Amino acid sequence: MTIQFSDLGLSQPVMQALDMQGYKVPTPIQAQAIPAVLEGRDLLGIAQTGTGKTAAFMLPSIDNLRKADNQIPFKSCRMLVLAPTRELAGQIAQSAKDYGALAGLKVHSIVGGTSVNKDRNKLHRGCDILVATPGRLLDLIDQKAFNLSGLEILVLDEADQMLDLGFIHALRRIRDLAPADRQTLFFSATMPKQIKELVSGYCHDPVQVSVTPESTPAERIEQFLFMVQQDEKQALLELILSERHPVPGEFERVLIFTRTKHGADRVVKKLGQVGIPANAIHGNKSQPQRQRALDEFKRAKTPILVATDVAARGIDIPGVSHVINYELPNVPEQYVHRIGRTARAGADGVAIAFCAEDERAYLKDINKQTDASFERLPLPENFRAVVEGVGPTKPAPKQQRQRVKPKPRGASADMRSGDKPKGNRGGGHGGQGGRGRGGPKRRHGGGKPGGQGQGGGNRRQRGQRRGGAQSQG
Ligand code: AMP
Repeated sequence: MTIQFSDLGLSQPVMQALDMQGYKVPTPIQAQAIPAVLEGRDLLGIAQTGTGKTAAFMLPSIDNLRKADNQIPFKSCRMLVLAPTRELAGQIAQSAKDYGALAGLKVHSIVGGTSVNKDRNKLHRGCDILVATPGRLLDLIDQKAFNLSGLEILVLDEADQMLDLGFIHALRRIRDLAPADRQTLFFSATMPKQIKELVSGYCHDPVQVSVTPESTPAERIEQFLFMVQQDEKQALLELILSERHPVPGEFERVLIFTRTKHGADRVVKKLGQVGIPANAIHGNKSQPQRQRALDEFKRAKTPILVATDVAARGIDIPGVSHVINYELPNVPEQYVHRIGRTARAGADGVAIAFCAEDERAYLKDINKQTDASFERLPLPENFRAVVEGVGPTKPAPKQQRQRVKPKPRGASADMRSGDKPKGNRGGGHGGQGGRGRGGPKRRHGGGKPGGQGQGGGNRRQRGQRRGGAQSQG
């Protein structure tokens, strides 16, 4: 029998907010986590973005905050969510506002790269829910502009990513500053040794909920592979985006991954030279630049975004039809994160990997660890000749350099000139003509399958805080 939201014990205002969001049934992680969190249990969620984990921790926490009905603490918050990136923090804060729309809770977010004075003023009177990146939070704590004395619930989201970003000391400090009797909800996509150590320092006998990532690539994302030399990648990308070398699926928004910030900038620059507008998003960009790039991508004003792993982590934008791995990630889990940016909210998606000779080992690891199944695509005819001079790496004629127009889902969008006839164009430099341009196979299905919830017992109601030193679970 399918579990319904009404089976989970959520309050009426939260149920109404879910209705407004159009959520019909809980995802597996929500079905498993919500009852345990409502009971006040600590939680260890092994899940990545796209599984519905934000609602899994936010919905029951909103209810717990409402039930406890404590006053907003001065220069503090009742619930703190730590997130690795500014973008993810922004998204979580928005979810808190959406899900808590009828609960009357005050939500703030603070992230690096913005005015610290504004944050200080914002937090003076405290708030119910604060979403923060660890560095900015500690800045404000060090300035005595904020403290954690009022904390009832602490959430760590994407903890593995926070470690990758060097936040380990920050996370240890925050743990030591937080009241011992808080509830902790800890999320990580992977469980390396360092994360296990952190969990035992943060959580008390946590209920463990795991949603295995393999289902994400396997179910609705079709995965393709080009074996291509490193110096041919840019030309191949240009042929694909200008639809001179057709690939499966209809372009709506294309997210391209590089391994480095410099690589992302280079791809954007070269695409610009041939009249294909694109933005880059990575750690060297200012916060307003990153936000602008995301907004333009969201509105499909500039539907090509080139990103590094860290910057794209947690991006949740519907309508990403294609993820192109311009460079393969050297960590297999990153591959799953990357391609999980497509096929959001029940849609289909296409993932295309460019693999050069020196990336074969990465490909092997991805195959082994994620059960990825790639269909290999042929390179364009006479491709080497194209790379070596003629064609796509040269700037397109001026009249072709138009802005890409937003395309409704279902319309094939030529990423360069927007108004060419649709369909399978052979010809030009790249026409293979062999592959149909039909969209990815439609495979309907609901949420992703979940894993097993573990643990039980040890009921602890919120409001009755755990006394004494925090025990290690
Ligand atoms: P998350 O894993 O929290 O980043 O969520 C991924 C996406 O799934 C977000 O766009 C949510 O709005 C959406 N979502 C979360 N829970 C549900 C649900 N029960 N039904 C439909 N969509 C959902």
